[in-house]
Amino acid sequence: MAEDPNSWADATRLIRGGLNRSNHGETAEALYLTQSFAYGSAEAADRRFSGEEPGFVYSRYANPTTQMFEERLALLEGAEHCRGLASGMAAVHVALTGLLKAGDHLVAGKALFGSCNWIISQYLPRFGVETTFVDATDLKAWEAAMRPNTRAVLIETPANPLLEVTDIAEVAKIAHAAGAKVVVDNVFGTPIFQKPLQLGADIVVYSATKHIDGQGRVLGGAILGGKDFIEEHYRDIIRHTGPAISPFNAWILLKGLETLDLRVRRQTETAGVLADLIGDHRKVSRVLYPGRADHPQAAIIAKQMTGHSNLLAFDLGSREAAWRFLDALEIVDISNNLGDAKSMATHPSTTTHRAMPEEKRLEIGLTEGFVRMSVGLEDVRDLSRDIARALDAA
Ligand SMILES: *Cc1c(COP(=O)(O)O)cnc(C)c1O
Repeated sequence: MAEDPNSWADATRLIRGGLNRSNHGETAEALYLTQSFAYGSAEAADRRFSGEEPGFVYSRYANPTTQMFEERLALLEGAEHCRGLASGMAAVHVALTGLLKAGDHLVAGKALFGSCNWIISQYLPRFGVETTFVDATDLKAWEAAMRPNTRAVLIETPANPLLEVTDIAEVAKIAHAAGAKVVVDNVFGTPIFQKPLQLGADIVVYSATKHIDGQGRVLGGAILGGKDFIEEHYRDIIRHTGPAISPFNAWILLKGLETLDLRVRRQTETAGVLADLIGDHRKVSRVLYPGRADHPQAAIIAKQMTGHSNLLAFDLGSREAAWRFLDALEIVDISNNLGDAKSMATHPSTTTHRAMPEEKRLEIGLTEGFVRMSVGLEDVRDLSRDIARALDAA
C-alpha cells in the first residue's frame, strides 16, 4: 500500500485503520470467535511461544479481531500502541496498577467517575498505595501534592459529572518534573476532540462502552501509549490477570469506530443548541457546557480541545425540581449511560455519585439540583421541544 495511514484524517482512519482481511477478502471486518490457535507442528508451536514467529497463541493474550480494534483506535489516537480491555474500569485498573506498587503515591482530581474513585480510595490503599485528591482546576494544588514517592497522576477531563476541565499539558509538566507518569481518562474528551498523548500524557484510557460503541450494546475499554511503555508496564498484567476484551465486543466496537466521528460531531452540534436553550430558561441557575463562553475553564478548552462535548450539566435548584424535570421528559431517557445515540439524562447525586459522601459532593460543586445530560442523535427540534416542556414542568 502506497498510502500512509498516518497521513489520513480521523474519519478515514476510523474506517480503514487496522483492517486485516483474511484470504476470503471479506469487506467487513471478520469476527474471530476463537479461544486458541492451532500450529502446523510442535516446532512451530515452540517458535510461536518463544516469540520468534509472530502470530496468535491464546485470546487472553491477543486475538485477530481484537487486534483490528486496537490498531484502529491507536491510529485515531496517534498512539504507537493500544490494548483493548473488557471495560473502561478494567482499563483504569490496569493503567494504575501497572504503574504503582506498595509505598507509592498517586495524585488525582476530586471529581472522578464513581468507580475510579472507589479504586483509588478503597482498593489501592489495601496494597499500600496512598492518594492525594486535589481540585483538578488548580495547578498550584497539583504541584503542592507531589511527593518524592509520587509515581502517577490521574486526570479526568472534562470530568464527570460537572464537566470541569484540567489543563493536561501543565499538569503533565508538574508530574514529569516530580518523576510521575500521567494517566488521562479521556472518555468525556473523546478521541475526536482531545488527544492527551500530544499534550504530554503517558497513557490514555477509554471506556469504549460510551461514545465508541455509541449504540448501547457492549462494554469495552482500552489503554493507549508508547509501545515500549505498554510492553514494560502492562503486557504481563494483561496476560496473566485476564481483563481481555471479548472478540465479539471488539468487533462491535470496530464497527462503532466507523461512525464515531460523524456521531460525536452531530451530537456535539445538537448539545450546543440545547445548552443555550437550557441556559436561557428561567428555572436554570447555571449550565455547564464546554462549548459556552461562560464555562469556567473556557480558555483551557480552547487550547486543548478541537471540539466540545455532547455532555452538559445544569442546576435546577433542588432535587425536587431535578426529578420533576426528569419525570416530564418524553423522548430523552432517564439513564446514567452516556455517549449513546439515545439522549439520556440523570440525577448524579442520587445515581452515579450517590456513593460519594455529601460533603465530598459539595466540595466538587455537585448540589442536589444538578442534572447531567448526554445528547444523542435525535432531531434537535424534537429534543428542544422535549427539554423545554420538561424545564417548564420542573
Ligand atoms: C463509564 C466510564 C468509566 C468506566 O467504564 P465502563 O466501560 O463502564 O467500565 C470510566 N471513566 C469514565 C469517565 C466513564 O465515563
